[in-house]
Amino acid sequence: MSVSDHIKISFPARAENEGFARTAAAAFISKADPRVDELADIRTAVSEAVTNAVVHAYRETDGLISMTIKLTEYREVIIHIRDKGCGIEDIEKAMTPLYTTAENEERSGLGFSVMESFMDKVSVKSEAGKGTCVCMRKKLSAGTDAEG
Ligand code: ATP
Ligand code: MG
Repeated sequence: MSVSDHIKISFPARAENEGFARTAAAAFISKADPRVDELADIRTAVSEAVTNAVVHAYRETDGLISMTIKLTEYREVIIHIRDKGCGIEDIEKAMTPLYTTAENEERSGLGFSVMESFMDKVSVKSEAGKGTCVCMRKKLSAGTDAEG
């Protein structure tokens, strides 16, 4: 894999589309021949970010989630998951382990912690009332077609 590639998809913010997003991400990244554990990590991180957009950003209202994935020539996977939902007022607080605004809904406040532990880097941009963009990066180990 020596050239970069990318995809962009958007889909309604519904719980049933979380599985689609995770599978679509895995299918695209599979062409870089990642390790099984790397693929599993990325699937889980995508699932957490998309679930957040469904559950927190839009709540009961309709909305769209967009997901872009870039695969660079250096085998870095860069994923952006965007919503135009309610936004996050205090990003640092939201990313604190165990912090949740939905404790009545059996949420544990660990979604961002999972994303951070399974990916190399997670950054969040958000504006209250306008939406949120979660960017996650992970460098894949050398593939079977890599040099050396
Ligand atoms: P869990 O992921 O463990 O089920 P959680 O979703 O509450 O629980 P995190 O994923 O860590 O935990 O998110 C923490 C908090 O950040 C959420 O409770 C919510 O208030 C806020 N949040 C996360 N993503 C978004 C988003 N896309 N839009 C608005 N608020 C968000
Ligand atoms: Mg969550």
